[in-house]
Amino acid sequence: MQRYDAIVIGGGLVGSAIAYGLARVGLRTVLLDEGDVAYRASRGNFGLVWVQSKGDGAPHYQRWTRRSADEWPALAAELLARTGVAVGHERPGGVHLCLSEAELEARRAMMERMRVQSGNFGFEYRMLEHRELADMLPGLGASVIGASWTPYDGHANPLNLLHALHKGFVENRGRYISNTAVSDAKAAPGDFRIRIADGEIGAPKVVLAAGLGNAGLAPLFGLNAPVRPQKGQILVTERAQHVLPMPITTIRQTVEGSIMLGDSQEDVGFDTSQKPAVMQTIARRAVLSFPWLRELQIVRAWAALRVMPPDGLPIYDQSERFPGAFTANCHSGVTLAGAHANAFAAMVAAGALEPALDLFSSRRFDVPTAA
Ligand SMILES: Cc1cc2nc3c(=O)[nH]c(=O)nc-3n(C[C@H](O)[C@H](O)[C@H](O)COP(=O)(O)OP(=O)(O)OC[C@H]3O[C@@H](n4cnc5c(N)ncnc54)[C@H](O)[C@@H]3O)c2cc1C
Repeated sequence: MQRYDAIVIGGGLVGSAIAYGLARVGLRTVLLDEGDVAYRASRGNFGLVWVQSKGDGAPHYQRWTRRSADEWPALAAELLARTGVAVGHERPGGVHLCLSEAELEARRAMMERMRVQSGNFGFEYRMLEHRELADMLPGLGASVIGASWTPYDGHANPLNLLHALHKGFVENRGRYISNTAVSDAKAAPGDFRIRIADGEIGAPKVVLAAGLGNAGLAPLFGLNAPVRPQKGQILVTERAQHVLPMPITTIRQTVEGSIMLGDSQEDVGFDTSQKPAVMQTIARRAVLSFPWLRELQIVRAWAALRVMPPDGLPIYDQSERFPGAFTANCHSGVTLAGAHANAFAAMVAAGALEPALDLFSSRRFDVPTAA
């Protein structure tokens, strides 16, 4: 049997960030991935490193997200230095546009709730009226009534991030094994064994980071990961001169100049088909926001599935039955890459999750039903 210090199942953004972090602190780590037949949110997302709407009613999620966004600049610099891959991270702040008074009022109420909930930790935001916003965002449409703004938001190239994490992991002596779908395992406290094509691998630690695959894997390790798919569709325009100085919740300009428009939230199971009606809605709202977008050709479009926990918050656990087995699931794997590569990987290496993560345990779903 081939022995490692840690096995990570799932080579998407969540598993790769954790595996990268584990290998960096010196754990001999193997990363197993099912391959191109699996659903892979990490290859179809929008690329926001987004903070401002995270954690309404759950300030611990706002704090965790901010912690990750704060880790991002150092992670991006480190990945560039170690791998030569630029992940295109920028953190100029971000805005969420409102196209009606009702939207603006709902947004204002949410932002203020989040400020109050943040307590001493603080939450800096501003609501902007059309005129002030128009000075910030060239060519803003008259339909935009206002927006919320925070300094915390940013964006990055998610494919470059995934590539850099994989490259950094392998350069840190990590072993990446693709086309390996895990469907069975032997689990005992501090002893996990998985059969792969050329034999069996074993480790005292295993991290389940298989995205939607975690739902089926978790029970093998005494864990629970009730994630479901949520479809999002994205449109990409041809490249244009640089116009947008900051990302917007559903519109962002890449380093190369393309403008990404997104993204829908559709609960339609494991369906990844593109729907013209949804694409039209995305395009229409984008053109109302910036009428000049009408002149640009759409050159690419796709749909992908988010990994969605029941309440939208991440799930992090260590198995009580089989200590050493951990789960990690979230629907913001780009945003949380900083926390996963640094904080979460360090906790796995140390063998215990911080108390700050207790509220992310799947035990929150064990609500007794009324008699
Ligand atoms: C349309 C869309 C837009 C998004 N926009 C953003 C955004 O702007 N910002 C943001 O932060 N997040 C965004 N996300 C979410 C982000 O993409 C996900 O949170 C993140 O990619 C989840 O990564 P993951 O590694 O958990 O899952 P995945 O990317 O799905 O990776 C899971 C991996 O596990 C492997 N796997 C599955 N089952 C098994 C098994 N049994 N054995 C071995 N391997 C297995 C698969 O091969 C896959 O590679 C978006 C998602 C979508 C769909």
